[in-house]
Amino acid sequence: MKTILVTGGTGFLGSNLCHRLIKDGERVICLDNNYTGRMENIQDLLDHPNFKFVKHDVCQPIPVKEKVDQIYNLACPASPPAYQGKHSIETTRTCVLGALNILDFAKKNNARILQTSTSEIYGEPLVHPQVETYRGNVNPIGIRSCYDEGKRCAESLFFDYHRHEGVDIKVIRIFNTYGPNMDPNDGRVVSNFICQALSGQDITIYGDGHQTRSFCYVDDLIEAIVRMMNSHEGFTGPVNTGNPGEFTIKELAEMVVKKIGGTSKVVYKDLPSDDPTQRRPDITLAKRELGWEPKVPLSDGLDKTIEYFKTQVHLFKKGEDK
Ligand code: UDP
Repeated sequence: MKTILVTGGTGFLGSNLCHRLIKDGERVICLDNNYTGRMENIQDLLDHPNFKFVKHDVCQPIPVKEKVDQIYNLACPASPPAYQGKHSIETTRTCVLGALNILDFAKKNNARILQTSTSEIYGEPLVHPQVETYRGNVNPIGIRSCYDEGKRCAESLFFDYHRHEGVDIKVIRIFNTYGPNMDPNDGRVVSNFICQALSGQDITIYGDGHQTRSFCYVDDLIEAIVRMMNSHEGFTGPVNTGNPGEFTIKELAEMVVKKIGGTSKVVYKDLPSDDPTQRRPDITLAKRELGWEPKVPLSDGLDKTIEYFKTQVHLFKKGEDK
């Protein structure tokens, strides 16, 4: 049994990862300040003998005393409405100071550490689909830059700790992911569209809806994260993890409306600035090095996600109130 620290463990991906690791028989320390994470995502784990929750901000020195074998660093607001608004400075702080703290902790523990980076480091991509060797096209002063540049700086720190301090690192770049444990008020497109349709509100497409995204179901993504953590020595990444199936936002809206039915109509709103036009991962490297590719088609994943949001929709607030 390994002792594994998960930062950002009460969030969408973090909580799914904690459940997976507990199922695998590992001992899990879940660390989160619940800035955007939610205790209800881990409620069922709190009494488990192999699970421990520590309420803590990753920007402060890590208070964990146990010897840790592996660390997954997921701590960071990840939804554009969360990081573009009043949480922007906190987002850069978490990306950069959080990475420094957790890397120091990894070095002290001689632990392997995985960074969850993001497709956002490619910015508005001029290469399509995106390959890991593409260096990106990020606006350094735009409303997304706190997250994009924060995550780019974190990658830089991870590779410097690897080169100069000998820390055993793994870096993945996560593309859009969806599924159970998403916060209904997270503001991202999948949660918005499903909750809007379930509650009879207008479906809000930003821009003309021709921008594309590639959506990965959470179970597929968690499998990729765990495989990357346990991949062979010397393979650091960065490696793209996502589903290469590419859809326009309009197509997504049509799928959701068709599945849920109801009275919702589609309305068009302004496109936020720097919203990427297209995004699709090239996952050749993940296939080769991790033997991984996603298995859940968007339609099946949406069905499961709709079932989950039926239990959450009473918490959904209309756009402006979030
Ligand atoms: N989007 C939308 N309506 C919404 C929320 C998002 O049309 O209610 C669009 C958004 O402008 C972007 C895409 O959906 O083009 C994906 O947005 P999301 O916030 O989920 O993630 P992103 O890929 O932008 O980080």
